[in-house]
Amino acid sequence: MMQFSAIVAQARPYRSKLMLIASLSLLASLASLIIPWLAAQLLGGVIETGSAELGLVATLLVTSLVTSAMLTLVSTLVSASVSARILADFREQVYRHLQDLPLRFHDQSHQGDLLTLMSWDVSRLASFISHWLASALAAIFTACGALAILFWIDPRLTLILPVLLPAFYILMKFVGRRLRLISAQARNAEAKVMANAEQSLEMLPAIKAFAREALQQEDYAKDVESAREFGVKQARIFAILNPINQLVAALAVIGLLVLLGHGGSKTLSTTELFSFLFYAVLLTRPVATLADLYGEFNGAQGSLQRLQQVLKERPEPGYEAPKGLTSCRGEIAFRDVWFAYPGRDETLRGASLEVRAGEIVALTGENGSGKTTLVRILLGFYLPQRGTVFVDGIDITQIQVQTLRRQIGYVPQRALLFNGSIRENIAWGLEGANDRDLERAAGLAQALDFIKELPQGFDTKIGDHGVRLSGGQQQRLALARALLKDPPILILDEATSMYDLEGEAAFVEACKTALLGRTVILITHRPASLALADRIIKVDGGQLTDTTTQLSFIEGVAK
Ligand code: ADP
Repeated sequence: MMQFSAIVAQARPYRSKLMLIASLSLLASLASLIIPWLAAQLLGGVIETGSAELGLVATLLVTSLVTSAMLTLVSTLVSASVSARILADFREQVYRHLQDLPLRFHDQSHQGDLLTLMSWDVSRLASFISHWLASALAAIFTACGALAILFWIDPRLTLILPVLLPAFYILMKFVGRRLRLISAQARNAEAKVMANAEQSLEMLPAIKAFAREALQQEDYAKDVESAREFGVKQARIFAILNPINQLVAALAVIGLLVLLGHGGSKTLSTTELFSFLFYAVLLTRPVATLADLYGEFNGAQGSLQRLQQVLKERPEPGYEAPKGLTSCRGEIAFRDVWFAYPGRDETLRGASLEVRAGEIVALTGENGSGKTTLVRILLGFYLPQRGTVFVDGIDITQIQVQTLRRQIGYVPQRALLFNGSIRENIAWGLEGANDRDLERAAGLAQALDFIKELPQGFDTKIGDHGVRLSGGQQQRLALARALLKDPPILILDEATSMYDLEGEAAFVEACKTALLGRTVILITHRPASLALADRIIKVDGGQLTDTTTQLSFIEGVAK
C-alpha cells in the first residue's frame, strides 16, 4: 500500500484533470446503474403486456444509454490526453535527470536499461495513473451501487458475500505475488533485448569483420526467446485473472438465483427478477475491471520502483556551486590530486602540475597511465578523492560546472559526432554561430579542404557517429567544433592521432597562431604535436614529471 500512495503522489500534479476523468466515469457508471432498472421495467412491462408508461420507459432507457456512451467516450478521450501529457512529462523529467547525473553514474549503468526505463516503464506508469486510477473509482462505485440495489431487491444476497469476498482475496493474494515477480522478469528480459539490439547495431562493422553474424544472431535469439517466455507467462496470469473473477461472480449469481427459485418468504415479480439478473450481470463487469487493475498495479509498482531508483541518484554537485566563471585567463593548477575509479586502484597518486595562462603543455605517458583521467577531472566529470584543482586560482568545486566547461574546448579521443550534416555537427559547439565562424573554425582544424571536396560541402550528412567520414576527418570536425567557441582553455586528447603527417604539420603550423593566447593541454605522442608544446609532462605511476629538458636533450642528440 505504501507503493500505492507513492504512485498517487506521482499523480498529484495532474489531480484536476484526473478528477475530471473520475467525475466523468462516475457519471457514466451512474448512468450504467440506471440502465438495468429501466431495462427490467421495459421487459417486465412487455411481458405483463401493456403498461401505459412503456413509451416513457423506452425513451428514458435510450437517453440513459446514449448519455452513458457519450460519457464513456469523453472520459476515454480525456484520459488518453492526460496519459499522453503524463508520459511526455515523465520522459522529459527522466531525460533531464539522466543528463544531470554524473558520468560516474553512466559508467556504471546499462544504456539499454535506461532506454527501457524511458519507454516501457514510463508509459506503463502514465497509463496506470491516467486510466486505471480513474476506472478504479468508477468500478468501485458501480460495484457498490449494483450490490446496494441487489440488497434492496432481495436482502438474502447477504448470504453470498461471506463466500465471495474471501475467494477473491485468496485469488488476488496468490496471483498478485506471482504477477509482480513475472512482470519484473518480463521487463528485465525486454530491457536485455533492447540493450542487445542497440549494442549489436553499433558493433555491426566489427561483427561483420569477425564474421560473427551467426553467433550474434544466436545470442540475440536467446534474449528474444527469454522475453517471449516471460511475455507469455505474464499474459497467462492476466488471462486467468479476469475470467476466474468473472466466473466466481457469475457462479455466485447463479447460486443466488437458485436460492431465490427455491422460494423464500418473499416472491419476486417478473420485473424484480429481471432487475435482479441485470444488476447481477452488471456486477461482474467492475469485478473484471478491478482484477485487471490489480494486475496493472503490480506492473506499475515495479516501474515506479525503477524510476525512483534513478531519480534518487544525485545530480552532479557542480550545478549548485556558488561561483560562475564568466571569463577566464586560463591558469590551471593540479595540487596533490589522488583519484581512483570505483573498485579500482588509484589512477592518480598525488599528481601536481601548474600551467600558466597561454602555455601549451603536452602530456605523454603509457596507455592507461591516467592522462585522460586528469583532463576529465579538470572538466569536473569526476571529483578527486584528495587534492584540489584550480582554474584561475579558484577551486573548481566552487565553480558552477557548466560555466567552467564553457571556458574549455575539449576534443575527446573518440570524436562524438551525431547523425546530421557537417554544418550541424560543427555548429553544435556554439549556440548562434554564423557561417563565417564555422568556416574559420573548420579552416583552423584543417577540415576546410576535405569539406569543400564533398559533393554537398557543409551540408553533407555524415551518418551515425560520422560513419561516412574517415577517422581523421571525424577528428577534424570534432576539433573544429571545439575551436568554434574560441575557448581560453583547449584540451586535445590525441586529437590529431589520425591526421596524416601533412595534415598534422599544417595543423601545427596553423596552431602557432591559432593557439596563441590560449592555455592548451595536449595529450599526444606525435613528435610534430609535441614540438608545439612549451613543456612536456610525463604521466607515470599516477604522478606527473616535467621531462622537457630530457626530451630536448634527446632531440638535440638526434640532430
Ligand atoms: P590514458 O588516457 O593515459 O591512456 P586513462 O586516464 O584513460 O589513461 O585511464 C587510466 C586508467 O583508468 C586505466 O587503467 C583505465 O583502465 C582506467 N579507467 C578509465 N576510465 C575508467 C572508468 N570509467 N572506470 C574505471 N576505470 C577506468
